[in-house]
Amino acid sequence: MTLRQIDTIEELRAILDRERRREATIGFVPTMGFLHDGHASLMRAANAANDLVVASIFVNPLQFGANEDLASYPRDLERDTEIAADAGVDLLFVPSVDEMYPHGAVSTSVRVDELARRWEGATRPTHFAGMATVVTKLFWIVGACRAYFGEKDFQQLAIIRRFVADLSIPVEVIGCPIARAEDGLALSSRNTYLEPAERQAATVLSRTLEAAATAIEKGERDPIVVAELMAAMVATEPLARLDYAACVDPATLDVPERIDAPCRLLIAAQVGRPRLIDNLGVSCE
Ligand code: AMP
Repeated sequence: MTLRQIDTIEELRAILDRERRREATIGFVPTMGFLHDGHASLMRAANAANDLVVASIFVNPLQFGANEDLASYPRDLERDTEIAADAGVDLLFVPSVDEMYPHGAVSTSVRVDELARRWEGATRPTHFAGMATVVTKLFWIVGACRAYFGEKDFQQLAIIRRFVADLSIPVEVIGCPIARAEDGLALSSRNTYLEPAERQAATVLSRTLEAAATAIEKGERDPIVVAELMAAMVATEPLARLDYAACVDPATLDVPERIDAPCRLLIAAQVGRPRLIDNLGVSCE
């Protein structure tokens, strides 16, 4: 099957209903477009495990705050179509804002409590409700067996797992590893905003995560000390401004008393125009 672009919910549902009748398994990859190899890695994973792959491109206004980059979010549908086709996507769902939100503002939304309030949620208070609402809508529209998300957005993945469990949504959520540039920078559509000197400076996020992981591997067990070490390292890079750095429990995203089980290092910093996030898992044996 060659890639087919679908713009309406009705048409997508008609095709997928037919596919389900012949018992095809459906893998789903939601994105906001401006695709890179991180997105393609999710599509390839979906292609390897399912009969049919649906990807969506939708820059969801609900998950952008008033001062964020909704209007200028990078877009290139032609290039995205090529990347998606190469990665094995069969159906590329590209709905308009009107198609997704025909009544304008939604009066029903999906809000996840505790998990969504801290870290990214502290800086972006409406972001996760907007994300959870659109992902729930997309789950209803696609009816996939499996949905693929990047560990790049680690808190997002934890929140999705939580509302899928809380609402008994019949989909298997699969987390995929972070795709990085050769120098360690996590791939992100927003990296395109970086000026050359900022692009260089942005590696401070992955370098900091690696340094913190090494400290834990060498025996550091105090998560506060690890967070301080990360903050100090980011402070050495004049083009970066730290938002948060933390060592957390990978399931609850709480900071543990002591690091005596596998943990996740989280970091967010402004580097020039974009706010970048990254994370790394550490086993503490
Ligand atoms: P976005 O288009 O930024 O909303 O991302 C769509 C999906 O791609 C999300 O599940 C992201 O976590 C995932 N993703 C984005 N960047 C990466 C990356 N560098 N590696 C792996 N997955 C990623």
